[in-house]
Amino acid sequence: MTQYEILKHYFGYDTFRDGQDVLIQNILEGRDVLGVMPTGAGKSLCYQIPALMMDGITLVISPLISLMKDQVSNLNQVGILAAYINSSLTAAQYYKVLDLARAGRYPIIYVAPERLMSEDFLRFALSGQVKISMVAVDEAHCVSQWGQDFRPSYLKIVDFINQLPVRPVVSAFTATATAQVRDDIIDILMLRNPQVMTTGFNRPNLYFGVQSPKDKYATMVNYLERHKGESGIIYCLTRKVVEEVCSQLIREGFSVTRYHAGLSDSERRHNQEDFIYDRAQIMVATNAFGMGIDKSNVRFVVHYNMPKNMESYYQEAGRAGRDGEPSECILLYGGQDVVTNQFFIDHNQDNEALDPVTREIVMERDRERLRKMTFYCFTNECLRDYILRYFGEYGSNYCGNCSNCLSQFETVDVTDISRILIGCVESCRQRYGTNVIIDTVRGANTAKIRNYRMDENPHYGELAKVPAYKLRQVMNHLMLNGYLAVTNDEYAIVKLTGKSKGILEEGEQVAMKMAREAEHPAKVAGASAGKGRKGRKGLAAAGGAEFTEADETLFEKLRAVRTEIAK
Ligand code: ADP
Ligand code: MG
Ligand code: ZN
Repeated sequence: MTQYEILKHYFGYDTFRDGQDVLIQNILEGRDVLGVMPTGAGKSLCYQIPALMMDGITLVISPLISLMKDQVSNLNQVGILAAYINSSLTAAQYYKVLDLARAGRYPIIYVAPERLMSEDFLRFALSGQVKISMVAVDEAHCVSQWGQDFRPSYLKIVDFINQLPVRPVVSAFTATATAQVRDDIIDILMLRNPQVMTTGFNRPNLYFGVQSPKDKYATMVNYLERHKGESGIIYCLTRKVVEEVCSQLIREGFSVTRYHAGLSDSERRHNQEDFIYDRAQIMVATNAFGMGIDKSNVRFVVHYNMPKNMESYYQEAGRAGRDGEPSECILLYGGQDVVTNQFFIDHNQDNEALDPVTREIVMERDRERLRKMTFYCFTNECLRDYILRYFGEYGSNYCGNCSNCLSQFETVDVTDISRILIGCVESCRQRYGTNVIIDTVRGANTAKIRNYRMDENPHYGELAKVPAYKLRQVMNHLMLNGYLAVTNDEYAIVKLTGKSKGILEEGEQVAMKMAREAEHPAKVAGASAGKGRKGRKGLAAAGGAEFTEADETLFEKLRAVRTEIAK
């Protein structure tokens, strides 16, 4: 069968989603791959389908027993022979699986990473009786100390691969998009010239909202009442809060269950199934809940507390709307959340084994991430844009489907700015990229600008008062709307288009949605830290460190005066 036939026959889908076919094709050609795709994008199929087409066995490394069980039973249900090997098997079951595997029964075997280097398993893998054609590493960010869920046992994967008589294809998959984690995966798993596939992180069907209500609980109950009968997840920062929220909601007659690491395995499993099979409408949980959970009809994810960073937030919020239907992601912010997260950073037991220098680096990294998360709660820019920029994607500054776009934005005339930007592109004879253009109109005095003689450009310094990020937004807008174009090569040179003339010569007007002026962030942040401090110190204290340059840029953004733009 071809990959298309398998997709239809076993999984019942007609078309591949973004990125799936490319990854599958590369694997089939014997190339290592790294698939970076958001939660719910369909990473599993990317290794399951080629596994069925290759001869020999595909080993899938997966971090959680519950994940393995779910995936294997899903596969078995559609008639694919798969098994798992982890600590939940008795010795007898384990040997039976190995026997059947030797006899060629399973094209796919899920294996817990800590099993790989065990004597029994090595004997099986190295016996020469079986061919391991692929090792697929699911949730591959677990190899990275920079990732959310570092697992030392994941470091053994590469030792295992190196022992095999014939090196299999190695495929790795994750939803964590940061460059650091991606590079770690490639290095630590020793991927060979991998095809890296990153698909869009935008999830247009998700609405994003942030609120800082005085009474969080009442606000949430109000929300839940308006979403009766819909399936949703409520994430809390601690077990204690899960317990409180859960029992309170039960008392008020909501259909609720709970999940956190303090419950027994069997209760967690039971509660999770109640939620998945819609016997309980709402899951109240800590971040222990959800990795790999495949429930498509989650209509809302409410964060009762702000999580520790944007990676966690987007992963958790992303569990809403996997079926593509409109769904909501609401974050209820309170100043105490910063304090609690700060406490977790200061008392993170995982860090205790680290040497003091590394430990400080790790803690500073976490504080930095917490700051970015906190800014998310205070920005008046488009929330989706904020998220996508965090993960390195640039697009429109206005999505029209987040609480800021819907309440904080207004239409602004940017004709004058546009005319100057386009004029600058024209007068430099379309030779430079966005940064040079923006530096020129802002009147930057850099070596580059002087070398290029852009300080002699007629538009030099004409927009000195407009913050750089606003100019970038206008440039983006002009490009997205075809008033400017950019070459599709490494130089990314800005070019005029047929539409440019309309603005330069024909008096065409340009308007775009822009964020209203923010409340002064320092004030907000100071109050939010719950310490009654004035000025920027508030957030600095909450963040536990001085501000970085990146923070300053964000502050500039938050502070920018809208009217300057319109003038
Ligand atoms: P991920 O691991 O990337 O979070 P999964 O592999 O669990 O995502 O897939 C999420 C959901 O998307 C599953 O229900 C899966 O069956 C579905 N899915 C995957 N590929 C396709 C496709 N090509 N068409 C439709 N649905 C798909
Ligand atoms: Mg997955
Ligand atoms: Zn928006």
